[in-house]
Amino acid sequence: MEKELGASPSAATGQVTEAWARIRGRLREEVGEVEYRSWLRQMTLSAIEGEEAVILLPTRFLRDWVRGHYGDRLRSLWVAENLGVRRVDIRVAPELRAPEPEAAMADGQANGQAGGLAGAAPVARPQQATLALAEPLSSPPRAESRAESRNDWAAPLDPRFTFESFVVGKPNEFAHACARRVAEKPASPGFNPLFLYGGVGLGKTHLMHAIAWAISFNGQRNVAYMSAEKFMYRFIAALRAQSTMEFKESLRSVDVLMIDDLQFLIGKDNTQEEFFHTFNALVDAGKQIVVSADKSPSDLSGLEDRLRTRLGCGMVADIHATTYELRISILQAKAQGADVEVPPRVLEFLAHKITSNVRELEGALNRLIAHANLFGRPITLESAQEVLHDILRAHDRRVTIEEIQRKVAEHYNIRLTDMSSARRARNVARPRQVAMYLAKQLTSRSLPEIGRRFGNRDHTTVMHAVSRVAELMQADSTFAEDVELLRRMLEN
Ligand code: ADP
Ligand code: MG
Repeated sequence: MEKELGASPSAATGQVTEAWARIRGRLREEVGEVEYRSWLRQMTLSAIEGEEAVILLPTRFLRDWVRGHYGDRLRSLWVAENLGVRRVDIRVAPELRAPEPEAAMADGQANGQAGGLAGAAPVARPQQATLALAEPLSSPPRAESRAESRNDWAAPLDPRFTFESFVVGKPNEFAHACARRVAEKPASPGFNPLFLYGGVGLGKTHLMHAIAWAISFNGQRNVAYMSAEKFMYRFIAALRAQSTMEFKESLRSVDVLMIDDLQFLIGKDNTQEEFFHTFNALVDAGKQIVVSADKSPSDLSGLEDRLRTRLGCGMVADIHATTYELRISILQAKAQGADVEVPPRVLEFLAHKITSNVRELEGALNRLIAHANLFGRPITLESAQEVLHDILRAHDRRVTIEEIQRKVAEHYNIRLTDMSSARRARNVARPRQVAMYLAKQLTSRSLPEIGRRFGNRDHTTVMHAVSRVAELMQADSTFAEDVELLRRMLEN
C-alpha cells in the first residue's frame, strides 16, 4: 500500500501528518534549535511506501548528513509512532531547493511551511532566514553549495566517517591527534602537509573524511577530497578537453586539498608533475594539504624525489597495525549500535581471529549481525564460527609454520635451525616461544603438531610458550607491538 501524501486528505494521511509533526517536534527538542534549523528543517515527508517512510531533502550533502547523523533516530521515532513504519528512506529531491530570492519573496505563504508535506505546494524554503538564524559554525546551505557547485569534481564524503565514530587506540593515536589538529587549525606550521600512512583498512580514509567533515562544519569553505586515481582521471579528461587551465584553477581555489591513496600516482609522471605544481601553489598560498598513502614518503619509491621531499616536510603520521585492545574497542563501539546483542565472548573471538585490518573485522561483525537479524537467532560463539567459516579459514590458510619460523628467526636475528634446536639461551628460547605462539594463533595446527615442528617438543611446552607470550604481551607493550608486527607481516 502506498500512501501518497497531500493528495486527498483522509484519516490515514491525517494520522501520518500528525505523527510527522510530533517526530519533528521531538527531534527539535533533542538536537536544539540551531542544529535543527541547520540540518533538519528542510526535511519533507513525501510518502509512506509500505513499511517505509520516504523523506526528501534538497541536496545530496544534506541527505548524507541527515542519514548519517539522524537516520537511526528518525527510524526509531517512526517505529514508536506505531503506524507500521519500520524503515526510513532519505532521498534527494533537488526540486525542493530554495528558489531565487525574488521567487521566495513572491511566495510569502510557502515560507511558513518549512518541514511540511511535499504534496502541499512547490515549497519555497526561506534560505536567507536559515542562513541568518544558523550559527556561523554550522550552515549547510553554504556547505552544500560548496559541495555541489564549486567542486563538482571532488568525491562525496562518507557520513559515517567522522571523528566521533573513530575509535582511538595506541596504534592510531598519533595520526588521530594530528588529524584533529589539522581539522581545528588548517595550515598551521609543522602540520602542512599532513601525510597519513599505513596498511589497508586501518582508517586512513576514515580520518581524512573526518577532517573534511569537521572543517566543513566549522564553516570553512572549499574542502576538496578525492582519491589520487580520481585526480588522475580528472587531469587526463582536462587534457583531452583542452581545459587544463580550468582544472588547475578550480584546484587552486580550494582551501583544503585531500588526496587519498597517493601510491596510485607511482609511475604516472605527468599526473605527478601536475600534482606537484598544485601542491606548491596551495602550500605557498597558505592552504592545507592532506595526503594518504600505504607507505611513508621515503618508502614510496617511484615518486619523484622533489615531490617526496615536499611530502615529508610537514607532519608524517603512521597508523600502525591494530592491537588486540584496539580491535576489541572497535568491535564494542560497532556492536553497541546494533539491534542485536553480540556477546563479549564473540567479540573476543573476532578480535583474536581477524587481525588483518579493521575493514575485515567490521565486515565479519556486520555479517554476524545481518545473519542474526535475518534468522532471528541470537549470536553465539558457535554460530559465529559457522557463519564466518570462510573468512576464518582464509586466515588460517595463509600462513604455514615454516613461514612463521622463518620470519620470526629473521626478525630476532637467530638461525632458522634454532627454531628446532635444543638450545635454551634466552635470546633463542624467547623467539622460539613467539613463533610457537604465532603458530597457534595463525594456523589451525594442534598443539602436538606444533610441538613436532619445533624439534619434536612436547605439546605442554607449546602450551607453556603460548601462555608465557600472552602474559609478556600484557605486561610489556613494546614486546606486544613486536609480536603484533610479526603477525601483521605474516598475514600480508
Ligand atoms: P584505509 O583507507 O586505511 O584503507 P578505511 O579508512 O577505509 O581504511 O577504514 C576501513 C574501515 O574500517 C572503515 O569502515 C572505517 O570506518 C573502519 N575503521 C578503521 N579504523 C577505525 C577506527 N579506529 N575506528 C572505527 N572505525 C575504523
Ligand atoms: Mg582508503
